[in-house]
Amino acid sequence: MSHIIEPVLRLINQFSKLPGIGYKTAQRLAFHVINMSDEEVEEFAKDMFYAKKKAVYCDICGNMMQKGDSACVICCDDNRDFSTVCVVSDVKDVLAIEKTREYKGVYHVLHGVISPMDGVGPDDINIAGLLDRLAKGDIAEVILATNPDVQGTATAAYIAKTIRPLCEKVTRIAHGVPIGGDLEYTDEVTLMRAIEGRTEY
Ligand SMILES: [Zn+2]
Repeated sequence: MSHIIEPVLRLINQFSKLPGIGYKTAQRLAFHVINMSDEEVEEFAKDMFYAKKKAVYCDICGNMMQKGDSACVICCDDNRDFSTVCVVSDVKDVLAIEKTREYKGVYHVLHGVISPMDGVGPDDINIAGLLDRLAKGDIAEVILATNPDVQGTATAAYIAKTIRPLCEKVTRIAHGVPIGGDLEYTDEVTLMRAIEGRTEY
């Protein structure tokens, strides 16, 4: 039988649902919250609601943007090269590539990768949106920058095949990003070289 009272157990349970949080960490966070002032806890809960309410995805590229804006900051930036589109699986990958400050094109966020074992097919990720953008023309190059793991590689291959009739130049980021690795955790220099050294599909 647990010696932790039920309301606190519920809080621990909520924290342990978060990615990368094991039971021990969840317990530490829950106890920390209990020791915070009422005002701090209220502020924390309010900010969680606020972020959830205000964060939406850009209709053009799928990047995160503030609700009410016409598009994300990248799609709104006139200094970007709109003829180059970098396809990534996740918003976090946009942030990772932006940190290199080398890439001047725009993005397309898939919100996932094709993974038949998890029941995720091509229609479950934002490939249709990419095809729409290509159909509108003016895109000279699509860079496939999904992670170099099994699903990311398969997703890149599927997209390359699908968009080839609509796009003259389809490239894949160079290896340099470790095989099986994650863009999000790749250092900026390696990521910059991977984009520079991309090869034609
Ligand atoms: Zn956008």
